[in-house]
Amino acid sequence: MKAPSFAYAKAKSLAEAFDLIGRPGAKILAGGQSLIPSLNMRLAHPDLLVDITGLRDLAAIEMKPAGLCIGALATHSQIARSELVARHAPLMAEAVKHVAHPAIRNRGTLGGSLALADPAAEYPAVALALNATIVLAHRRGERRVSAEHFFKGLFDTDIRPGELLAAVEFPQVERCVFLELARRQGDYAIIGLAGVVSASGKRIAFCGAGGTPVLAPRAAKESTLEAAQRALEKDLQPPADLYHSSATKLHLAKVLLSRAWNTLSKPH
Ligand code: FAD
Repeated sequence: MKAPSFAYAKAKSLAEAFDLIGRPGAKILAGGQSLIPSLNMRLAHPDLLVDITGLRDLAAIEMKPAGLCIGALATHSQIARSELVARHAPLMAEAVKHVAHPAIRNRGTLGGSLALADPAAEYPAVALALNATIVLAHRRGERRVSAEHFFKGLFDTDIRPGELLAAVEFPQVERCVFLELARRQGDYAIIGLAGVVSASGKRIAFCGAGGTPVLAPRAAKESTLEAAQRALEKDLQPPADLYHSSATKLHLAKVLLSRAWNTLSKPH
């Protein structure tokens, strides 16, 4: 199918972007790797696409006091190649290896993935495991939202009208692990696990396990794998998909937990 007709404008500055996204029926266009297919499938009918890819400041990857700050327009390929990401946000460096295929990775962005909030996508689970800070920009300044409060529901986030996702701040942790099972390398996850250990304890988040990325707080409290796997039965009620029942997904989540356990349970 072909996309419905729409107007297109490329913002030359943040101020212009805010003017444009304030117009009725406007929608932000970043890498277009999710939005354009959804237009072609007539799942979205925006009146105006506001292309923000010219706002190059939003593609920066830099160290800040709060941790590594990755701009919303950083592409999956940039993230995969970044030494700063490998050193200061290794969970992102692990997760990005599982995101899509090269052509998509060259255009798709961090901001687009988090704003879309596909529950099977890798970055939302990473952001939740780290409780990263999402920086939302609006005409009068910025608003910071923790990942725990950012993901509201299926494809639904805390981004308000007139805001755009500008960057994400990733705190540093002691240890981390990202594992995923997918039908083919680069496909969305059947189930994926993002786990971190920091001074405040373990946090484990899953993708492909619910309508949003899902935390597993009971499993994270346990000290043996067997108890953590039992606790996972209370933490997760994964919805079935076309190929996997809920029980299969829960089983696969336990398999990932057993593979991650060495990293998550090593003594300090
Ligand atoms: P766009 O498609 O441009 O936008 C997506 C949505 O986010 C739109 O609603 C848009 O308005 C909004 N948006 C974009 N940027 C911002 C912003 N800065 N602020 C506010 N709103 C914004 N993703 C995975 O995570 N894992 C995969 O395995 C995976 N596999 C894929 C396989 C295929 C075949 C395809 C086509 C895509 C796949 N993707 C996968 C999706 C891909 O990662 C997309 O790039 C990503 O989800 C969206 O990023 P984008 O920059 O392309 O956003």
